[in-house]
Amino acid sequence: MRAMLLDAPGRTLREADVPVPDIGPGEVLLRVRACGVCRTDLHVVDGELPSPKLPLVLGHEIVATVERAGSAVEGLRTGDRVGVPWLGWACGRCRFCLRGAENLCPQARFTGYQLDGGYAEYTTADARFVHPLPADISDVEAGPLLCAGLIGYRTLRLAGDAERVGIYGFGAAAHLVTQVAHHQGRRVFAFTRSGDSAAQDFARALGAAWAGDSTAQPPEPLDAALIFAPVGDLVPLALAAVEPGGVVVCGGIHMSPIPSLPYRLLWGERVLRSVANLTRRDGTEFLRLATAAGVRSEAHPYPLDRAADALDDLRHGRFTGAAVLVPPAH
Ligand SMILES: [Zn+2]
Ligand SMILES: [Zn+2]
Repeated sequence: MRAMLLDAPGRTLREADVPVPDIGPGEVLLRVRACGVCRTDLHVVDGELPSPKLPLVLGHEIVATVERAGSAVEGLRTGDRVGVPWLGWACGRCRFCLRGAENLCPQARFTGYQLDGGYAEYTTADARFVHPLPADISDVEAGPLLCAGLIGYRTLRLAGDAERVGIYGFGAAAHLVTQVAHHQGRRVFAFTRSGDSAAQDFARALGAAWAGDSTAQPPEPLDAALIFAPVGDLVPLALAAVEPGGVVVCGGIHMSPIPSLPYRLLWGERVLRSVANLTRRDGTEFLRLATAAGVRSEAHPYPLDRAADALDDLRHGRFTGAAVLVPPAH
């Protein structure tokens, strides 16, 4: 099969012919239909996440059909369409797993990082960690739901019942979360790179009540702020934009250093927290909500062999929405 391999951090992805992977009894062999490109992939390529599997097939927003199910797999059969997200496996026995926090499992393994992912024609997954996908969304459009959507949803969920929600960094996650938040009757305030009027127009088109530069103060105080850009300098700005009792949630896996800040920005029972990974429950809830809200994703298809270009375009903010790789048709 064709696969795009990362040989080591800092290297350009290499197109290779590799054997179709074997599966264990609890696994499924999947034919990849589409795979979203996530900012986390850039962090892996740049060596900002420690000890990836090498060589590695990136990609954790996988839309696929089941080609073959292992002997112990229940509830999935050949031809079923499923999504494979970032959480590829958790132990099920540690204190985190037992309290429903499998996203924090110290032994958890992640797709496209410690397990081979979806920048390939085929991949494998533990059948217990894949998600059936709603029928009314195309393969390409479904890709971004599986990380940008899902982790975006967890980020929004951890903001509680905030009514006025600021979103910093208006990329793949933000454009999906805005639609969900709007559907839930919240008001969204979108903060973009300075002068990025295309992203600001995009945010308003998706239902944002206001859009402006990340250094601007919103027209009214916020109840919560979600930060999706990997920029630590946004943390004091977001804290300054939320009211006493408000929460700032950092939704990314990596962020540049957070500058020191005066205590008054945190004072007033403001909360600063991060989101790590996702649970299967987040996936189930989000996919149900995305269907109810009629969430559309702005997806830009790239052929699989142009994965490096898709990563480069993401790095330089050359599109709004999300890039999605599509393997050649069989
Ligand atoms: Zn565990
Ligand atoms: Zn991701």
